Amino acid sequence: MATALFLAHAMPALTDRMLVVDAERFPREKFCAGGVGARADKLLGSIGVSVCVPGVPVNAIAFRAMGRTTVVREDAIGRVVRRVEFDHELLQIGLRRGIPFSGGTRVTGLTRTPRGYQVDTSAGPIHARVVIGADGVRSVVRRTLGFQAARYRAQAIEVDTDPVDSDLERDVLVFDATRRDLPGYYWDFPTLVDGQEKVVRGVYILRPTDGPAVVEIKAVLEAELATRGIDLGKLKKKRYAELVFDPHVPVSTPHSLLVGEAAGIDPVTGEGIAQAIYYGAAAAKYLAEKLPAGELDFQDWPSVIRRGSIGRDLIVRSLGVGLFYGPPRANIEAFLHASPEFIRVGCQHFGGKPWSKAALLRASGRALWHTGYFLAGRVPSLPEPGGG
Ligand SMILES: Cc1cc2nc3c(=O)[nH]c(=O)nc-3n(C[C@H](O)[C@H](O)[C@H](O)COP(=O)(O)OP(=O)(O)OC[C@H]3O[C@@H](n4cnc5c(N)ncnc54)[C@H](O)[C@@H]3O)c2cc1C
Repeated sequence: MATALFLAHAMPALTDRMLVVDAERFPREKFCAGGVGARADKLLGSIGVSVCVPGVPVNAIAFRAMGRTTVVREDAIGRVVRRVEFDHELLQIGLRRGIPFSGGTRVTGLTRTPRGYQVDTSAGPIHARVVIGADGVRSVVRRTLGFQAARYRAQAIEVDTDPVDSDLERDVLVFDATRRDLPGYYWDFPTLVDGQEKVVRGVYILRPTDGPAVVEIKAVLEAELATRGIDLGKLKKKRYAELVFDPHVPVSTPHSLLVGEAAGIDPVTGEGIAQAIYYGAAAAKYLAEKLPAGELDFQDWPSVIRRGSIGRDLIVRSLGVGLFYGPPRANIEAFLHASPEFIRVGCQHFGGKPWSKAALLRASGRALWHTGYFLAGRVPSLPEPGGG
């Protein structure tokens, strides 16, 4: 629906010639911690869309590793929403703008026709000149069009719990990388469930697509919760895969292109809401050029993504996989604790704010110093808490 909203904004005459189909009827649950960077809201705001739902404002990010927690405060960088509410409200905005929608309509396959595609659905066939696959982690569009798998795949599991005494303030997103044996992390995000203060806690784990699972993710969550005095026991466990971005996988064929998680999201953290919205804006701009010109082979969509802000962001994060989940991990952890200015720039990026150049410069200098330690096979000791 985000993609459709951007497209309707760019090409109003197309509004009633689009059809958004979704297998689910809304409101529907989507397993997700609901952490939305303010950059996503700002981008939606650029076309006059404001998704007003209950949420918890985010003013800080905490990084935990090596027995230390570094908290960096930066005002108004995002919010934590419930996807059942957020997605439903986004849909209502689309409906109010006249975008046709068919809920409870599952796409089962695609067949190429001379003019585009026949989209087979549970409600019968639909003929489309262009198909945008925005169908998430198990994208039937991606599978039917035969795109290769990404090099990595991810899993996430989460539960909603009551707050506990050891939780930080309710405007902090906690990323806990204490378990260095895991290519992933544990999180605590404050959330609101039916108006009640809760915390959504979960684990994200990345692994090579052709490799075995390194650990049982539920056991990791159970152990992490136990350190916080929480019994996983009867809590409702929400477990799902995530499809991560791989710059080498093409995400378009003639008359069809992928956006959002179907195209691939951030492999380091599994963040995908803002990415899906950025993909949508990029696709609308792209289609607004291609459709009037009748250029529907879409060969350059992958390179357009790579050159745009969404692609640059995802490429940098893809490079981060080998750093953060690879041999330099201990050095990266030490670097992050020693360089709160780097986390500050991350907060500013999450929140769609201009990056502080001075902070970036200081962090870059420190990164060089830490690289030297890594090359020498050493990890620097942590600075005194609060010492910067
Ligand atoms: C446990 C967990 C926690 C997460 N936490 C966060 C977080 O805090 N912040 C964040 O930014 N990201 C988070 N993510 C990732 C985020 O949820 C996704 O990346 C994001 O929702 C992707 O958006 P999308 O629109 O591309 O896909 P989706 O939100 O998955 O939407 C795809 C839609 O396609 C529909 N669909 C699927 N198949 C078909 C079909 N065959 N026919 C018709 N319709 C179909 C689905 O019903 C769905 O509505 C989390 C993911 C998980 C699993």
